[in-house]
Amino acid sequence: MIAANIQKINQEIGQHARLIAVSKTKPIELLQEAYNAGQRLFGENKVQEMAAKWEQLPKDIQWHMIGHLQSNKVKYMAGFVDLIHSVDSFKLLEVINKEAAKNNRKINCLLQVYIASEETKFGLDEGELMELLERLKNSPLPNIEIKGLMGMASNTEDTNLIRREFKSLKQLFDKCKATYFVGSNQFNDISMGMSGDYTIAVEEGSTLVRVGSSIFGSR
Ligand SMILES: *Cc1c(COP(=O)(O)O)cnc(C)c1O
Repeated sequence: MIAANIQKINQEIGQHARLIAVSKTKPIELLQEAYNAGQRLFGENKVQEMAAKWEQLPKDIQWHMIGHLQSNKVKYMAGFVDLIHSVDSFKLLEVINKEAAKNNRKINCLLQVYIASEETKFGLDEGELMELLERLKNSPLPNIEIKGLMGMASNTEDTNLIRREFKSLKQLFDKCKATYFVGSNQFNDISMGMSGDYTIAVEEGSTLVRVGSSIFGSR
């Protein structure tokens, strides 16, 4: 089942986006099944759960942190995390930078942007995003690489609304790239799209889709 689901989604998203298998709350055996089907990118939303799974599974898996992140948890994944999708403050970036330095590495990050029309708690608005990038320009963090943006659309059946929200993230991405990353090759990723909306997300320019229940079943 899992192998067939992964194959189907990969066919749908094509060459432009990569599939992150969101495995939060799922047991190791199911992740191993996905791994055996060729899946190498996994997404988790809790640091300790991700670290426990990292210990038990093959080391060529790339682990993506997609959930809201508290500063005091960064140290538990700083040695191995491949990409943090959920950075929403300069303070958090400073902590990640420090923990990355302790581990003699750079940590890849996406800045989470609030694009939904409904009330959700996390993510930067456009003003805060630009302010953060301006601050980063003036005081660079050497152990951080900003790879792009992440966003979550409204949880709704209204596909026009979802599409508009994804379009707004893509526009913001283009604006950031043109303002702060000209001539740089690091700012290339837009993480958008989940089980219910990844096909729309890919049409609107997503490069990373985060899919859980359509691979592993409902939680
Ligand atoms: C859980 C989660 C997903 C995956 O959700 P599905 O609807 O199961 O595909 C994607 N992104 C984030 C941030 C999540 O927390």
